[in-house]
Amino acid sequence: EGEQPVSDLFPTLYTAPERPALRFDGRGLSYGELAAAATGLARRMREGGAARVALWATPTVETAVGVVAGLLAGVPVVPLNPRTGERELAHILADSDPDLVLVTPGAPLPDVLGGRTTLEVGEVSEAAAPLERDGLPVTHDPLSPALVVYTSGTTGPPKGAVLPRRAIAANLDALAEAWKWTGADVLVHALPLFHVHGLILGVLGPLRLGGELRHLGRFSVAGVARELAGGGTVLFGVPTMYHRLAEAVDGDPELRAALTDARLLVSGSAALPLPVLRRIETATGRRIVERYGMTETLISTSVRPGGGSAPGTVGLPLHGVGVRLVDEDGTAFDIRDGQTIGEVQVRGEQLFTEYLNRPDATAAAHDGDWFRTGDMAVRESDGSVRIVGRRATDLIKSGGYKIGAGEIENVLLDHPGVREAAVTGEPDADLGERVVAWIVPAGNGEPPSARELADHVAAQLAPHKRPRDVRFLTALPRNDMGKVMKRALTADPTA
Ligand code: ATP
Ligand code: MG
Repeated sequence: EGEQPVSDLFPTLYTAPERPALRFDGRGLSYGELAAAATGLARRMREGGAARVALWATPTVETAVGVVAGLLAGVPVVPLNPRTGERELAHILADSDPDLVLVTPGAPLPDVLGGRTTLEVGEVSEAAAPLERDGLPVTHDPLSPALVVYTSGTTGPPKGAVLPRRAIAANLDALAEAWKWTGADVLVHALPLFHVHGLILGVLGPLRLGGELRHLGRFSVAGVARELAGGGTVLFGVPTMYHRLAEAVDGDPELRAALTDARLLVSGSAALPLPVLRRIETATGRRIVERYGMTETLISTSVRPGGGSAPGTVGLPLHGVGVRLVDEDGTAFDIRDGQTIGEVQVRGEQLFTEYLNRPDATAAAHDGDWFRTGDMAVRESDGSVRIVGRRATDLIKSGGYKIGAGEIENVLLDHPGVREAAVTGEPDADLGERVVAWIVPAGNGEPPSARELADHVAAQLAPHKRPRDVRFLTALPRNDMGKVMKRALTADPTA
């Protein structure tokens, strides 16, 4: 007795019970309360013999308790998107086949959960006695599965990435080092809790450090301003959120002050449009720190706060992460000219171990210990990585050129008449593919003409990057991370 209980993932979970740990839209738990609730639930999972649990991942304290409990118990957790359609949910349930689904009390549950055993996550108020005192060992193999996180489904049906404990530990520690992120930080965000960004970085990150999370429940500009002004030091967001902050910042002195005073603003999950970065920087003097990652690799690269990486890049590899570019023949190259495009491949302890039930896909995604991301990038002279886009949807091969969609999107977004822009390639008899721009007008007067927008691009970029077609929409199709679903952008809506 007298020895401190430890957890490989949460070294300070039991050590400072009075400290605030989590707050979701006003409801909060201290570390003592979190440890008690999660340990009690972990004990039930172990006693019930659960081999895998799914978690109905509403943005609530219960979701945080559920994931911490699974990690304490060593039972892999599958976070579920509570807003997803029945079809995708049925696919994920059949694929992951959990023997228990943890749910938030009172959350409306869909019919597909019907045949499954559910358990409400309650706020167990027993003393936070660690599992080992019941003879339940708390040491776990670092390669054992901690979470099965489904990819966002941007390019096809979501795949379950099996993430081992060491991936989570290694990546959170590398991020803490890169961002000088500590237990003194108070993280603010409004991200969903069924992806890497919101759950691993956004919940497990502060808990591993002994810091605090204040989750907004739902994103709002006013909520961000309020929480940052009220003690928040770090903000995590996806580009659509920063877009909304950028649109508001000039007319909102409180928001401007809150962003100016924040210690760190981080963006990820999709490319941050340059005009958004510039608008925030002009208004606040703050440079949003962009990082790059994916479900299978966690975070691979990041701009360092105060570091030299150029705007529009995703910075340098994190500590312990190998990043290389590979040409079409599969040969790695190290050319730092900001021009030569290759596929990003990644290795290191932060990688997933496999796609659940998909040995074929797992094998196809690897070259030895390197993981093929499917993302294309160039390297700048300082080594910083600039993502060009996904090989499948963002790299347009037109007239013998390789054109990155993102560069054209950034130029279109610079036009005052454009609110959102996406660029795709479509089959073309002459060119192989032709550049097509999809535009959501700014709504501040007469929308710009197709001709004007094509001229605007041609005036700033090489002639072959000029859109051949410009199509107007009222909104771009996006998933719940705000990512543009380019496969839904097609000339033929029935395709
Ligand atoms: P699926 O794999 O199911 O099609 P997805 O790839 O969108 O979906 P995630 O793993 O959530 O699923 O997203 C990872 C992808 O997000 C990366 O491969 C990359 O294309 C994109 N991404 C993440 N961060 C950035 C960034 N900073 N800049 C550009 N792209 C990014
Ligand atoms: Mg992917």
